[in-house]
Amino acid sequence: MENPLEAWRDTLLELGVMGLVREPSPVVQEPSLRAPSVVPPPRHAEDRPAPRLAASLPPAYVPPSDAIGCPRPASVAAATDLAGLQQAIQGCLACPLGPGRMKFVFGEGDPGARLMFVGEGPGRDEDLQGRPFVGKAGELLDKMVGAIGLKREETYIANIVKCRPPDNRAPTPEEARACLGYLHRQIELVCPAVIVTLGATPLRELVGVGEGITRVRGQWKRVKVGGREIPVMPTFHPAYVLRQYTQDIRRAVWEDLKAAKEWADRPVPPETRP
Ligand code: SF4
Repeated sequence: MENPLEAWRDTLLELGVMGLVREPSPVVQEPSLRAPSVVPPPRHAEDRPAPRLAASLPPAYVPPSDAIGCPRPASVAAATDLAGLQQAIQGCLACPLGPGRMKFVFGEGDPGARLMFVGEGPGRDEDLQGRPFVGKAGELLDKMVGAIGLKREETYIANIVKCRPPDNRAPTPEEARACLGYLHRQIELVCPAVIVTLGATPLRELVGVGEGITRVRGQWKRVKVGGREIPVMPTFHPAYVLRQYTQDIRRAVWEDLKAAKEWADRPVPPETRP
């Protein structure tokens, strides 16, 4: 019996349909069996594609080189009062926080205060108002200061950085370092008898103590600024107290501030007067 396929082929040939070819079926190789594609190495450095990781990173911040964007240390040292210092540095763009600020938060208070607070950096309210410790944390700080018999304006309040870190994060060590010279000059000009650091960041960046604040709060430390050693009392940041609003935490802060006030009330030895 004739094969039906052969008969159909013969019929097509008779009709003049020539050149019938079987379509090759696609050959799908398993990935592991595929021959590796060989890409010749680039002959010149500029032919090489940029590494993908570098392309996904934000560009590094390049501070401006002009005198206003980056105040020179000499102009900071030359400031003879707080107003002059503020004037010298308020346009600062020396670190990545500068371009993002709404307002520069220099610090405020009695320029001859015996007790100086140093916090971490401006938050949202401070950035809007250009003043340190406003909003809820500021209200609590005012109450804490009132509890030791002082008014806020009888103290001086500053921060490690003068521009707001985004999302209320802590300033990076690089940002803190870029700003620290301003704070040192501020401390020299205020010449406080005692500094109270609020939270872990000022303790680490100003005093160089990296231990947890829970462990070291209430223990006297020292910092040398402008050739003068100043006693430092570490305590909790008011924002932390608000979050952990327990009687123990509030009592601990009160005791720390009381100890700082007692030190600040001591008579000033003549040799340490500015
Ligand atoms: S945080 Fe300090 S160093 Fe950074 S831009 Fe502001 S003032 Fe300058």
